[in-house]
Amino acid sequence: MAVMEPTSIDSGLAAALAERLDGEVIAPTDPAYDDARSIWNGMIDRHPALIARCRGTADVVAAVLFARERELPLTVRGGGHNVAGGAVADGALVVDLSQMRAVHVDADARRAWVQGGATWADVDTETQRFGLAAPGGVVSQTGVAGLTLNGGVSWHRRKHGMTIDNLVGAEVVTADGRVVRATATENADLLWALRGGGGNFGVVTAFEYRLHELGPEVAFLFVPYPVDQAAEVFRAYRDLVASAPDELTVDFGIERFAPDPELPPELHGVMYAGVFGMYAGPVEEGLKALQPYRELGTPILDATGPYPFTGVQTMLDPKFPDGVRRYWKALYLDSLSDEMIDAAVERAVTMPSDGTLVFMRHLGGAMGRVPAGATAFGDRRAQFMLSIDSSWIDQADDDVNVEWTREFWSAFERWSGGRTYFNFAGQHEEGDAALRASYGANYERLVDVKTKWDPDNVFHTGQNIRPRAAR
Ligand code: FAD
Repeated sequence: MAVMEPTSIDSGLAAALAERLDGEVIAPTDPAYDDARSIWNGMIDRHPALIARCRGTADVVAAVLFARERELPLTVRGGGHNVAGGAVADGALVVDLSQMRAVHVDADARRAWVQGGATWADVDTETQRFGLAAPGGVVSQTGVAGLTLNGGVSWHRRKHGMTIDNLVGAEVVTADGRVVRATATENADLLWALRGGGGNFGVVTAFEYRLHELGPEVAFLFVPYPVDQAAEVFRAYRDLVASAPDELTVDFGIERFAPDPELPPELHGVMYAGVFGMYAGPVEEGLKALQPYRELGTPILDATGPYPFTGVQTMLDPKFPDGVRRYWKALYLDSLSDEMIDAAVERAVTMPSDGTLVFMRHLGGAMGRVPAGATAFGDRRAQFMLSIDSSWIDQADDDVNVEWTREFWSAFERWSGGRTYFNFAGQHEEGDAALRASYGANYERLVDVKTKWDPDNVFHTGQNIRPRAAR
């Protein structure tokens, strides 16, 4: 990939944009440039033409209009956590929302108003002051924007639904630089599309979420079992979750212990098969509901207990530091047969990298009861999501890790019908086929909304839904 040489044209462009912006404009000549263009996935090494660090909605409007006038491709950066790296592109103008992270909670109305560059840490800190929570992600540094626009699966998804099921409104800067609100009564087609249709429809400068009572303490499950018991534990897990109440979300994973100083050194690097989960309800009730998951085999250790909800939300952060190389892919499964379990275990234990995680999320509950047409996200019948999260350090190991992930994913594709979670979509290699399979009957409706709101396909990163004229 050619590295852009800083030129006087770049400085002229940067100066012209800076005149219109309250926030900072970062050009390739700027010492802050390399830092500003890097995102969470260390595999992504892209060189935008300009980065517009917007301070507010007016800056976003100015940046969008500038990109259009100068015919620069445009990308939007929320939390910068997307594995495919849609926040940055070579030669693009990046609308960087990292300075727009305000959160306002209306505890009486049980609503949170959240700016488009906020992370889940920002949201949890404010909402938990009132004993409330919005269903977000399970790692605190993930951006609310990307996560919400593609669905959003949290530890309380089975009780409170996906993030999009709690998105009641949004402020959006459109492709022609207007600022509009999207709610159930105002631009309802746009709100419908934002609930799962990705970043295709405009820059979302604020999200409004419905909040739920949760915490301050919750019962959390973490029990790792020896990996040679993986298939039995996995089967027992599958059988147990079939009758789990909505309050309970339990996932199964295979990975290695990190070299964590709090763990005995003999466990460092040891592979295990673990269950992880949370009960969205009273702690005592939760501990009772979690008990059977602590007896699926002979545990290596058992860290189950009451935890502050904010602690649960940051617990996994150390596993996912910035800058590591990643390739993650996911797919949906309507059910989990013994054959699938054996195939998953057989492949997982061959993971080429110490940092990799193979994760089975249990879906259903409240998130599963939302009709397919109610949100752009589509069909909710899947009971599980398999996520193959490869993480490694050396560039020299790229091919082996990417190929391993793709082969694993391909082996399961026949069971998923090609339906994928666009927040964990590798590099979107499946293109249109994944769009059609995942959105199903909603796809043509999404194309209509796209054609109305972004006929020139200004917002084209991630899973691009192309407007009719551009197809
Ligand atoms: P960004 O990289 O900033 O943006 C992602 C995409 O959205 C880009 O294409 C971007 O252009 C577009 N975009 C960003 N902001 C806006 C905006 N304001 N308006 C319009 N378009 C915008 N997902 C879950 O559902 N649950 C989890 O528990 C979860 N855990 C995760 C843990 C880790 C460590 C990581 C890396 C990811 C996790 N994810 C999870 C996936 C996560 O939801 C996606 O990576 C998501 O895209 C991240 O959003 P972001 O704003 O940080 O990303």
